[in-house]
Amino acid sequence: MAREPKYIFVTGGVLSGLGKGITAASIGNILQARGLKVNIQKLDPYLNVDAGTLNPAEHGECFVTKDGAETDLDLGHYERFLNIQLTNKSSVMSGRILRNLINDERAGKFLGKTVQMVPHLTNATIDVVEQAAEGFDVHIVEIGGTVGDYESPAFFEAIRELGAKVGAKNSLNVQVVYMPYLSTSQEIKTKPAQNAVRDLRSMGIVPNVLVARSEQATSGDKIRAKLSAFCGVPETGIAILPNARTVYEVPLTLEEQGIGNYIVDWLDLPSHKPELTDWKKLVETILSKRSPTVKVGVVAKYMDNQDTYMSVFEALRAAAWEHKVDLDIQWVDAEKLQKTADPTDLFAGLDGIVVPGGFGSRGVEGKIAAAQYALTNKMPYLGLCLGMQVGVIAAARNAGLTKASSEELDPKGSELVIATMHDQKGKENTGGTMRLGDYPCVIQKGSKAVELYGSDTITERHRHRYEANNEYVAQYESWGIIPVGKSPDGTLVEMIEAKNHPFFLASQFHPEFLSRPNVPHPMFLGFIGSLKKKH
Ligand code: GLN
Repeated sequence: MAREPKYIFVTGGVLSGLGKGITAASIGNILQARGLKVNIQKLDPYLNVDAGTLNPAEHGECFVTKDGAETDLDLGHYERFLNIQLTNKSSVMSGRILRNLINDERAGKFLGKTVQMVPHLTNATIDVVEQAAEGFDVHIVEIGGTVGDYESPAFFEAIRELGAKVGAKNSLNVQVVYMPYLSTSQEIKTKPAQNAVRDLRSMGIVPNVLVARSEQATSGDKIRAKLSAFCGVPETGIAILPNARTVYEVPLTLEEQGIGNYIVDWLDLPSHKPELTDWKKLVETILSKRSPTVKVGVVAKYMDNQDTYMSVFEALRAAAWEHKVDLDIQWVDAEKLQKTADPTDLFAGLDGIVVPGGFGSRGVEGKIAAAQYALTNKMPYLGLCLGMQVGVIAAARNAGLTKASSEELDPKGSELVIATMHDQKGKENTGGTMRLGDYPCVIQKGSKAVELYGSDTITERHRHRYEANNEYVAQYESWGIIPVGKSPDGTLVEMIEAKNHPFFLASQFHPEFLSRPNVPHPMFLGFIGSLKKKH
């Protein structure tokens, strides 16, 4: 008989941006290393329905699940740390639960009763958590934001009630807090952490594990004793996490501090020795000196914030680790590129170019110029979603179709080599309506793509509204590109390659979502491999 799932609730205090998602994922990692079946979910207090409409420059990338949910970037951490594929059940924003409640209210399902935060919103929240937990040994639930945010009390009440319902041995609360360093007195202060714990306790939730983040390294013993005395958490349940050299080190740091065994004991889980050999090897590789250094230019309109393209950066890094090369990622400003007549200087010193996904018209001409440059100068190019669309436009323009464009960029254009998908017309400003999630793709024999994948049928994740216009596909050959990947019915171009080029590969899908730190994605491996050859 299947065991009842055990719950781990991860909350945050003091500051946002402490790495609560990484902590939740790392806890999952060390439990999974003990042979446990782990699921993980984020409850986001924002009143949005999903993350699809959020600005990636502010909130980080929109991570897409296999079943097409547009989610928060933490889901990407979860998938990478656990090497699993999550579904829409793992990403729940308040707006989604509220919308369902309000629809039920309009449909008369409450039979004249008032609809309230408690018990209606809380019960609906407990339902989505329990549904996601079904069939797993451990279910980790991260609550977005920090204790005290205006939007979140109902979520805290829901996890309090669920904890009480399943009983003390079946749930555990982890609070991630921050300890600032005061340079004048040269000490790490615990008071904000104490206050955050008090805030959590005032909501009826007592932390069992405390993960205390700090920017400074510390021996930890004195701090652990102090936190334990003031926060009511046993010293063995406290992990001190100074800034890590790589996020992938965090599971190992938690394990070293005994948190894995502490959790297993607390939840009365079968205690196998954790199998972390491969993970340790990964961290060793990441921290080792690697050479040569390959330089990649990422052409973007949102600059200086890696979170915006989190999975792309992680996929590039994973491929570099596998190839044992060092990686230097530089931003290439798409808007600056757009205004530059000769972009040679902007690409000087780079080994290859990546054009990641994007929306809207700002900076797109610069991205087209980058693809044109890569085609003409035989510079390795990796195009992701919008990166494929600009690749097609670039090839067309280089071949003389000077007005070649995309319907997104120039709705009235006369040579729209990229057009709105038929079933997307009229949906341009609505959330959750793009072509989203997994779709199969058939790759042409003899292509570079098929060689990289080692298979001619693949499934990848999508998020787009526009597509390669089939009226022009017959001309690709004369433009120097080949539509090497298509939907199984042959109607949709999914991948292109350039002829007679060291590496020019682009896809309509987002391969970055399937890359894992220890299982790099074939397209990224091929790209980084082509850069390594240049040295
Ligand atoms: N804006 C393009 C489209 O909707 C590309 C989307 C993307 O890069 N994710 O088709």
